[in-house]
Amino acid sequence: MKYYDVLLPIPKSYILTYKSDKTLDKGLRVVVPLGKRNVTGIVYKQSEKSEFDYEIRDIIEILDNKPFFKENDITFLEKLSAYYGYSLGNVFAGIISKKILEISGTDFNQDISTHSKLATLNAEQQKIYEEIIKNNDFNCSLVHGVAGSGKTEIYIEVIKHFIQRNKQVLFIVPEISLTPQLIKRVSDRLGIIVESYHSKLTQKQREKVILGFRDGHIPIIIGARSSLFIPSCDLGLIIIDEEHENSFKQEEAPCYNLRDAAVLKAKIFNIPIILGSATPSLESYYNAKIGKYRYFKLTNKFHGGSDSSLKIIDLKGEDKLSGILSLTLYDAILKRIKNNEQTILFLNRKGYSSQLICQNCGETLFCQNCAVTMTYYKSDETARCHYCGEKLKYLQCKCGSNNFMDFGVGTEKAYLILENLFPGEVIKLDADTITSQKRLNSVLKDFEKNKFKILLGTQLIAKGLNFPNVTLVGILNIDNIFSLPDFRNNERAYQLLTQVAGRAGRFEKNGEVIIQTFNPELPVFGLVNDEKFYEYELNNRQMFSYPPYFKVVRFIFSHIKEHIAKESCKKIEYFTKGLNLDLKILPAVPAPIYKIKNRYRFHLVIKSKNHNDIRKTVKLIKNEVDKLKLSTLNFKIDVDPYFFL
Ligand code: ADP
Ligand code: ZN
Ligand code: ZN
Repeated sequence: MKYYDVLLPIPKSYILTYKSDKTLDKGLRVVVPLGKRNVTGIVYKQSEKSEFDYEIRDIIEILDNKPFFKENDITFLEKLSAYYGYSLGNVFAGIISKKILEISGTDFNQDISTHSKLATLNAEQQKIYEEIIKNNDFNCSLVHGVAGSGKTEIYIEVIKHFIQRNKQVLFIVPEISLTPQLIKRVSDRLGIIVESYHSKLTQKQREKVILGFRDGHIPIIIGARSSLFIPSCDLGLIIIDEEHENSFKQEEAPCYNLRDAAVLKAKIFNIPIILGSATPSLESYYNAKIGKYRYFKLTNKFHGGSDSSLKIIDLKGEDKLSGILSLTLYDAILKRIKNNEQTILFLNRKGYSSQLICQNCGETLFCQNCAVTMTYYKSDETARCHYCGEKLKYLQCKCGSNNFMDFGVGTEKAYLILENLFPGEVIKLDADTITSQKRLNSVLKDFEKNKFKILLGTQLIAKGLNFPNVTLVGILNIDNIFSLPDFRNNERAYQLLTQVAGRAGRFEKNGEVIIQTFNPELPVFGLVNDEKFYEYELNNRQMFSYPPYFKVVRFIFSHIKEHIAKESCKKIEYFTKGLNLDLKILPAVPAPIYKIKNRYRFHLVIKSKNHNDIRKTVKLIKNEVDKLKLSTLNFKIDVDPYFFL
């Protein structure tokens, strides 16, 4: 009898052992009993032990005749586990979805004869292309170019180069950019059917892509985040477009950043990786600056056209229509409507209003389960919590009054105001209206067909959308970005402003960008679309000991009992202070959002220049928390955190 440790999609920190009389290779999929059910897992290794003082159950079925995950795939998971401080079991369960494991069926063949359409790169693109394809080993290239500068064209040529050499390619984009247009564009240019991979595929479609990629019949996948973990046959290149995207950061345990995971994977597989963005993250920019990444800059929009003109409107001074629209922006929109051109308006807040204030006693209505204000939705007259999903129909203040006044403008309210000013011309795009990919595509199509003159949306619209007829972009208000306790505020504002500005005038017509703010004096407004921003912000980061100069880790302790959350956090703070390592330890304090879903939250943030000491600390803290033996304590490790709420 042989004993095997099997990785299972269950969130446990230990790995279970099963037995079989067969010899099983690492990476095979097997079905094993777990309690009363059967689950699919992966053979991790032959167990080190052969005697057990508890019952070892039998492996029921072996699903593959050759390993589903190769050695490298498993090494990749091990490295993620070591870097992010989660056990291998937790990483496996949190990242490799059941959907990937539970595919069945046989693979199929696809004809890879290429009849690609030709495009000739311009001199600037050609030079970058040639540099990138020089090397097949691990190296990371950062391609920095404004929207429309031709990054995607370079990717396509590089992809072609690798596919012609029988290498496979993973092209990963944010879920929102994974549009039929992009798939079609790449398919047409490569002359093959390109498969896409995302969360909304049917199990059958998923099967086709996963097996096809594993067996090498599919040369390329364009996919969302989860495609990084699909097993491959002969992977030769990874591309991450919009590498700076916040949505690449996973906030739930196991917390990890897809971009960084992809670089790790490329290193383990010893293949090149390309990161692309119009507004690279400070981390990637810095890595390029110090020579860790190769740096390529595209300076011009491919189709030319002068840059959009940029106007910053100080909301403190101006008269505002219905409280949200300066006359300057109003006139600019009106002019576009007259010229049969289109406008995109941006507002980073959903719902009707962000606060309800009691008319009787002045208290703000908070969620009962979370320390956050309730957002009002006029459409169904409810107050909702964006953190726990609580939805109140009947609103009552602690003082008994049910007379509230609303404050703050969300997209729902802005929509009504705009509809009133420009009847029949406005379409809204936010997480509340976009309930499916289909719905999203139909909204975008309607706008593209010029059925509406104004598209109003949240940050969803800042991403890769491409409308030739849009000549005006307005940002109704960006100030809530600056109110967060977060060292990335400037970076986020810069990225958002620059990306949104890139939406206007992508083609021949010259665009105009109008930004409304109460804080026009902030330096970032003077640096939109300007690479000088990076020097300015790197300087800030260095001054205040933040990434990329310092590594940061955040530990979050939450518990339904306030004192338990607090004491655990404090204990770990003392423990960490006792370590003789090169660390800056910020005091253990209540998290800015002090309660979510009735759990009280405390956090501890540590920083260091020394990557080794950070790694050691994460390990030691994890052990120390395990020693507390508090099964009801929720403990989260966030290495390279993106949010601090
Ligand atoms: P980005 O990915 O940087 O936003 P794209 O690659 O999408 O830029 O290019 C912007 C536009 O310019 C697209 O319409 C694309 O078809 C066109 N384009 C870019 N490079 C070329 C080229 N070498 N030949 C023809 N058209 C190009
Ligand atoms: Zn009241
Ligand atoms: Zn809540």
